[in-house]
Amino acid sequence: MFQLKFGSYVVKPPKVSILELANGSDEDFCYGVLHKVSRSFAVVIQQLDQELSLPVCVFYLVLRGLDSVEDDMDFPIEKKLVLLRSFHEKLDDMDWCIQDCGDSADYRAMMSVFYKISRVFATLKPEYQEVIRDITLRMGAGMAEFAEAVQKTGKGSVVSKKDYDLYCHYVAGLVGIGLSNLFSVSGLESPKVANNTTLSNNMGLFLQKTNIIRDYLEDLDSSRTWWPEEIWSEYAPELEWFGKNPDHEKSVACLNHLVLDALSLVPDVMQYLETLKSDSVFKFCAIPQVMAIATLAEVYDNKNIFKGVVKIRKGLSAKLMLNSGSLDAVKATFHAGLSTIRSKAASKLGKCPAEEAILAKTIEIADRMLAITETPATSSFSTGALLFATGSVVAAVSIGVLAARR
Ligand code: CA
Repeated sequence: MFQLKFGSYVVKPPKVSILELANGSDEDFCYGVLHKVSRSFAVVIQQLDQELSLPVCVFYLVLRGLDSVEDDMDFPIEKKLVLLRSFHEKLDDMDWCIQDCGDSADYRAMMSVFYKISRVFATLKPEYQEVIRDITLRMGAGMAEFAEAVQKTGKGSVVSKKDYDLYCHYVAGLVGIGLSNLFSVSGLESPKVANNTTLSNNMGLFLQKTNIIRDYLEDLDSSRTWWPEEIWSEYAPELEWFGKNPDHEKSVACLNHLVLDALSLVPDVMQYLETLKSDSVFKFCAIPQVMAIATLAEVYDNKNIFKGVVKIRKGLSAKLMLNSGSLDAVKATFHAGLSTIRSKAASKLGKCPAEEAILAKTIEIADRMLAITETPATSSFSTGALLFATGSVVAAVSIGVLAARR
């Protein structure tokens, strides 16, 4: 699910283990665990106002707990389905915990003292509690629905593009919807941020689809399959085929098709960010989005995703984080990422029969997205100038700085 991973621009994690952290206060435990399990998210949370940081921290930990139940492939499926569907009830049980459940040692430790999180949950304003409980219920039910489908068919559960969007809604769109609700409840944002659930959902989908595309190999190795069969079956007889044929033109053709699908979310991402009033909320939301477009630009037409881990460079992610403070700066980064994708697609046009139609559509959609991410700063540089500095996102960072200073 929604998991932010970006490089080295992070706070040092506490050296003590999660079980040692459990000896401290419940609130210190929550922040300590957050730093341990997701240093990058811990950094982003620091952008938030005091009012929101604890509710968002608890929200994140609860959903990570749920996610680690989903991802624990050794946990018996019958028990897993029950736990996923009842996890929201555990939040109101001040003593609940579970041993030997979770997909990593850290998560198993967190789950073994889960009541520390529930006890902090109980101190939150009732309005915050209601949002977190509701999203946990809906996400757990959705995860169970997909896990049950795998159990019944013995195959991947994401068949149609509709399934793909639905799965992404459960595990990430709901995170966006829940966060928007927390923002509105806090008063830092108006009720309309919470009310436009399509925009919030698509914020989550853009991140999730980017991760799903990038993590092809990692997910396959853990027997998780999230690439939709309706798309991959146009290119290969089975999902594993791409990993076995990383240099085949059909492998990158399928990858590029999935990137095209994700790009259609960009207008909603921009519209959502435009709606925000609070600088701290804006930055909190914008940082993962600029990481996502930079990642898409990096993975587009890149056969290395079938061979190993493709990540954006640490220096670049640090620059992107520092430079996500204004709408113009964010637009400039998107503009540059889209330019990179467009130029990679244009350079293949007419040469790759396996993906001709998809390339043409990608160029068309990229042109539309380039228009909506235009700012005075980007338009004063030609696209050629942007691409001149390779890894055009680097060029965008300096343009973004200009935009931010305007
Ligand atoms: Ca998961």
